[in-house]
Amino acid sequence: MEIADTPLATVRANIAAACKIARRDPGEVTLIAVSKTHPAEAIVPLLEEGQRHFGENRVQEAQAKWPGLEERFPGAQLHLIGQLQSNKAEDAVQLFDCIHSLDRPSLVTALAKAFDKHAKQVPCFIQVDVGEEPQKGGCPVKDLPALLDQARDAGIPVAGLMCIPPFDIEPAPFFAFLDKLARDHGLGGRSMGMSGDYETAIKLGATHVRVGTALFGARG
Ligand SMILES: *Cc1c(COP(=O)(O)O)cnc(C)c1O
Repeated sequence: MEIADTPLATVRANIAAACKIARRDPGEVTLIAVSKTHPAEAIVPLLEEGQRHFGENRVQEAQAKWPGLEERFPGAQLHLIGQLQSNKAEDAVQLFDCIHSLDRPSLVTALAKAFDKHAKQVPCFIQVDVGEEPQKGGCPVKDLPALLDQARDAGIPVAGLMCIPPFDIEPAPFFAFLDKLARDHGLGGRSMGMSGDYETAIKLGATHVRVGTALFGARG
């Protein structure tokens, strides 16, 4: 058996083990290394180990860090996992390969316009406010069908649904709920699970897990 001697190897082994229990193909699960707040020097070792998907939550921070890294490590894929202001939509479309926080009609409009202008389509997850915590962003569950219709009409490639469950309670019911919502709407992607609960999320259908602390240590 391979010895997991780095945090990345450990997380990869845990993902493989969760997939085995859930009888899922590990190839269905994308590990997004959440590098927000961490400097380029902390990210390079993961790139050197072959990790290619990274998550950032602020457009400006990513603009400062990533162009140089992408030059050195071709194929790096950048995911925006934080709330996006409409006036940053254009910057986000230029830099990111995937957006996980589409959550309101005005952002659908802003993104569609930016896609047009830059002749670039970026796959988007619709973030759903599963825990009724509007401060975290996310579309209210009752508004999801209308937002999805609007996004599809605007030509946005909708990859799936994303959620951030409440921190202080068992997340499994929220993951199961997001999985059901995605299935009901014919969507393949489920962006759910963080350092504390990605294995649970995988057992409940996650296709994209967003892991920061378990890979980089605590944020300062
Ligand atoms: C910071 C963040 C993560 C990663 O959280 P960890 O607990 O450090 O793994 C995942 N998703 C979102 C939306 C985040 O903002």
